[in-house]
Amino acid sequence: MNVVQVISKKRDGGELSADEIGALISGYVAGEVPDYQMSAWAMAVYLRGMTVAETAALTEHMLHSGVTFRWPAGEPPKVDKHSTGGIGDKVSLPLAPLLACCELQVPMISGRGLGATGGTLDKLEAIPGFRTNLSTEEMQSICRRVGCVISGATADLVPADRKLYALRDVTGTVPSIPLITASIMSKKLAEGLDALVLDVKHGSGAFMKTIDQARELARSMVDTGKRMGVPSAAVLTDMNQPLGRMAGNAVEVTEAIDLLNGEGPDDLLEVTLVLGAELLVLAKREASLQDGVKRLQHAINSGAGLEKLREMVAAQGGDLDAPRPIASPSEVVSPRAGYIIAMDAEALGRVIIELGGGRKKLGDKLDLSVGLEMLARLGDQVAAGQPLVRVFAKLDAAAKVKQDLLTAIRIGDEPIELSDLIAESSTWTPTRNP
Ligand code: URA
Repeated sequence: MNVVQVISKKRDGGELSADEIGALISGYVAGEVPDYQMSAWAMAVYLRGMTVAETAALTEHMLHSGVTFRWPAGEPPKVDKHSTGGIGDKVSLPLAPLLACCELQVPMISGRGLGATGGTLDKLEAIPGFRTNLSTEEMQSICRRVGCVISGATADLVPADRKLYALRDVTGTVPSIPLITASIMSKKLAEGLDALVLDVKHGSGAFMKTIDQARELARSMVDTGKRMGVPSAAVLTDMNQPLGRMAGNAVEVTEAIDLLNGEGPDDLLEVTLVLGAELLVLAKREASLQDGVKRLQHAINSGAGLEKLREMVAAQGGDLDAPRPIASPSEVVSPRAGYIIAMDAEALGRVIIELGGGRKKLGDKLDLSVGLEMLARLGDQVAAGQPLVRVFAKLDAAAKVKQDLLTAIRIGDEPIELSDLIAESSTWTPTRNP
């Protein structure tokens, strides 16, 4: 392969063949293609884009740069969901065990906090003893025995993404739809899935700020999944305020348990049920989303979902019933009467980082006990002096973030029209933002 020719072809808007993309990726992972050439290529892709065929070829070659999960025939379908990330998004915690109660298995590879958004692994580590560094063999064995497992990517899974993502991070080439698609889909498809659902968030706390950007990313990922033979669907969900009431680490585990106890907030429940129902339909376990919702709701009502979470936590060395550290609460009150007309959810995420619940730089140790509880939601009418947020942190730390919280929550004089929580999905009828 002539690397310069491949870079030039993409620079001039040409379509690369699967062989050209494959040779580039394998050369890069082997250290034969240097970072400076790969950077030039990534920038050419950023500027020129990729066709569906090119994106699928890139995903395929990245996926096969390392080991992939292999599952024996005749077992329950393997499914997973991926979220593009948001504040208070703890859906994976209740969803994986609920699906495991519905004749499906979930080998979920998750990540840590990225930017202002939290990470599932950090949240789970608030459970005493919980291990997130399982080997690929341990992950597969727990998934087959328990029905679900949630752990971090091992060094042998998709090494091409680890190397390319680090390069994109420092070359201004992260926000490219085909590169994001290949990065996310290669990691998910390495799990050997039979179905995948994507929760693509849009709004102030999301990677994609507008619904049009979210739709474009969703289309690209679904097209790639389908082209690679994995039934895939996307749901566009609102991230203009935290999902549920809790945002942080230990506090989100508590809210996930509340949901499995039948006491979860409506918005978190709705997103969990819709994503789960999509997977039950994609994996041919239910004929309609409505039937899927009923089945998942039954797993909540019977207590089976909570029992399954307890089983998964125990299999990964943790104890769901052991006390989790949660810092003492204090409240931030509304300075005036009015309506909550906007929330900067990303700024709320940055407050959690400021409190120590997220990372400012790689390797930072987290304080898993800090967090926020949103006591009012978008559109609510509030009185002067009414508590808006409960802050779990030491009192001096809570005092320091008070102004940031008040800036992030805008109060106006007139009520607002709420956007739909589930903006679009394959067949779901949107409901109002609860
Ligand atoms: N998350 C990923 O895993 N990859 C990207 O490129 C962007 C977000």
